[in-house]
Amino acid sequence: MNSIKALDRLAGDSSSITITVHIHPDGDAIGSGTALMSYLTECRGKDAVLVVPGIVPESIAFITENVPEGRILEYGLDPEGACRRIRESDLLFCLDCNSYSRTTPEMEGLLRASSAKKVLIDHHLNPETESYSLVFSETEISSTCELLYTILKRMPDIGGKVENLPLTSLNALMAGMTTDTNNFANSVWPGTLEMASELLAAGVDRDAILCNLYNSYRENRLRLMAHLVGEKMKITPQGAAYMILDKETQERFDFQEGESEGFVNIPLSIKDVIMSIFLTAEEDRFRVSLRSKRGISANRFAMEYFNGGGHEMAAGGKLPYGTGMASPEDAEAYILKVSGLFLKK
Ligand code: 5GP
Ligand code: MN
Repeated sequence: MNSIKALDRLAGDSSSITITVHIHPDGDAIGSGTALMSYLTECRGKDAVLVVPGIVPESIAFITENVPEGRILEYGLDPEGACRRIRESDLLFCLDCNSYSRTTPEMEGLLRASSAKKVLIDHHLNPETESYSLVFSETEISSTCELLYTILKRMPDIGGKVENLPLTSLNALMAGMTTDTNNFANSVWPGTLEMASELLAAGVDRDAILCNLYNSYRENRLRLMAHLVGEKMKITPQGAAYMILDKETQERFDFQEGESEGFVNIPLSIKDVIMSIFLTAEEDRFRVSLRSKRGISANRFAMEYFNGGGHEMAAGGKLPYGTGMASPEDAEAYILKVSGLFLKK
């Protein structure tokens, strides 16, 4: 049986569907999760819920604004409700997330233990395929939103006509693809432009999406960005630029989850910078964002030194405190050491 038929059957046979995405969800995670949930509820009449590890960041909440009450559960606000939902479900989707370890520890335990059928739809390297009954994994594609779009288009009830999808799905797919390609700056393939073209023709308001994504920030975000680039950014002799968003700076600028999205890309605009490293201090660890230029593997750097992974030129990971990493100074020394090793000329 081909995988679309298998997916169609799994969706048809299930009564309670939960979709989950990666922690610290970005536009692609929230976009793909919302798009699939809207398709399953509106086109298939299914009881489908998107369970978000953490919260939906304010900066991308517009993607979910037309979603009916109760169709999105945030573990960060209602952990019991989120866990109950996972326990009760007979079909689980994991989107834009190559491993359940990229949810929350409690969700990971429940997702792994669940006897529900499991479907992976993801574009990251090294997907944990053995955990799933059905896998849609494609790494040479712009985004999970683009991959999901190719899948939904082939579903029998959609019949190749994207206009048969709910407008909430179409808008969410466009928003997620736009954020993951950094507004068509990276990972754009012929299919990405075809998708954009078809979504536009089907009624997506791209101007509104762009305004929501790029012209609706709080003043604080711009001031924080200027501060980080102006005062904090450093560049190693090997061409690794790094910025550390410490707790004190977060408080000073009233930093909110999701607001540093895109900051890691900025140093790559400098000719001699080949790797950009962005650290955010959290309760018990630094979150790490990495971007590289062609020929340098951010994915390998993340896997070797930052307990993570991602894509070839855009990856991430973490540095837990207690491994000699308690302060920004320790992290800085670590960055100098490992970028020296990794990028040695
Ligand atoms: P970002 O820097 O935008 O947070 O993440 C860049 C890419 O790296 C994304 O595709 C993201 O999913 C991936 N990524 C971020 N953090 C981690 C992590 O802790 N582990 C893994 N495996 N991938 C990550
Ligand atoms: Mn993605």
